[in-house]
Amino acid sequence: MARIVMKFGGTSVADIARIRNVARHVKREVDAGHEVAVVVSAMAGKTNELVGWTREASPMHDAREYDAVVASGEQVTAGLLAITLQNMGVHARSWQGWQIPIKTDNAHGAARILDIDGAFLIKRFGEGQVAVIAGFQGIGPDNRIATLGRGGSDTSAVAIAAAVKADRCDIYTDVDGVYTTDPRIEPKARRLAKISFEEMLEMASLGAKVLQVRSVELAMVHRVRTFVRSSFDDPDAPGMGDLLNPPGTLICDEEEIVEQQVVTGIAYAKDEAQISLRRVGDRPGVAAGIFGPLAEANINVDMIVQNISEDGKFTDMTFTVPSGDVDKALAVLERLKASIGYDVVQSEAGMSKVSVIGIGMRSHAGVAATAFKALADRSINIRAITTSEIKISILIDGPYTELAVRTLHSVYGLDKQ
Ligand code: ADP
Ligand code: ASP
Ligand code: MG
Repeated sequence: MARIVMKFGGTSVADIARIRNVARHVKREVDAGHEVAVVVSAMAGKTNELVGWTREASPMHDAREYDAVVASGEQVTAGLLAITLQNMGVHARSWQGWQIPIKTDNAHGAARILDIDGAFLIKRFGEGQVAVIAGFQGIGPDNRIATLGRGGSDTSAVAIAAAVKADRCDIYTDVDGVYTTDPRIEPKARRLAKISFEEMLEMASLGAKVLQVRSVELAMVHRVRTFVRSSFDDPDAPGMGDLLNPPGTLICDEEEIVEQQVVTGIAYAKDEAQISLRRVGDRPGVAAGIFGPLAEANINVDMIVQNISEDGKFTDMTFTVPSGDVDKALAVLERLKASIGYDVVQSEAGMSKVSVIGIGMRSHAGVAATAFKALADRSINIRAITTSEIKISILIDGPYTELAVRTLHSVYGLDKQ
């Protein structure tokens, strides 16, 4: 007997027929004698609709009320799955975050889980009950519902798996694993049998939305054996109930991966904007004077490029922010024009960031040069570059995103291995 947490994403619970299919996956594990807890997302498109309504009601809304609205999607699917399971003869009960409770901090809309009462769920296992838990939500210190940021049900699932010391956390989604790049963009992308925590962290934070970044962090810290697998597979196909090696991608320690490639995957993030401050006085403290106030305004600055000025007196400062934050950033910079001291500020939206990720880069030279040449051969202009030990990120014009992803995917042979 094992203890398994199963998470089902939005497309997996998009309608009643799919919820029935999900229930069959759950029943398979229950019938095999395992202790099972389930985490569900809202039906596909539901959270977007709810978010849209809060914006329509007021563009500048109270984050606590945003949470009250957007957390409701998961409540519906938890109840529907519990009803469906009961109808199949499985002892199931739905639970919302506050009932367990899943305690979070006060950052409404992007809350972090602080604590989960594992004993509550372990008691349910003892009763032979399948707890069907609404993902994406918990309860804050203000006693109000808090949501965990978009894609947050992944994090609910991994955190619950850690709290009950589950043997496995299965993230069921609409693809059958983690691929070398988004299979929607590159049909030649290949499924990875395993990917290291570190690489998955980079893939997720650089745009691959198959797992929320925080869920990977938690899996890494708490050593949760996490698989990404498909809910569309036939629940009763051979091998589906394999305890140690179910079909899908295992997120694991780098040591567990025998054949490590130099490059593991390509990720992309659309909707980046570039902001340039021209002729900024080149003196100590100028970067702090620009990026401090932007951080205080909760604007996530990503890539930063500072040119060395010819005369040593002035510099150009270029950086990227999410497109949605441009207006807010420009307002902050306008307010600080006198204290920073710059000539003009220019901004351009519609950029994309494509990234090459691989632990093998640590020990291989020339990986970046290969990317630059491949993009140049396709006449794709590079606007900014950042690198770390295991990734290279390149800012390009948005319309070239797909071409750049496919080009990089093929130049590192990811479609062939
Ligand atoms: P869910 O609703 O189940 O949480 P998401 O839409 O959040 O599913 O994530 C799954 C999607 O992630 C896939 O449909 C796929 O298009 C996208 N994706 C992006 N990069 C990758 C990748 N490297 N491997 C697999 N899927 C990826
Ligand atoms: N329903 C939430 C969202 O769409 C959480 C999730 O699906 O993980 O962001
Ligand atoms: Mg998701």
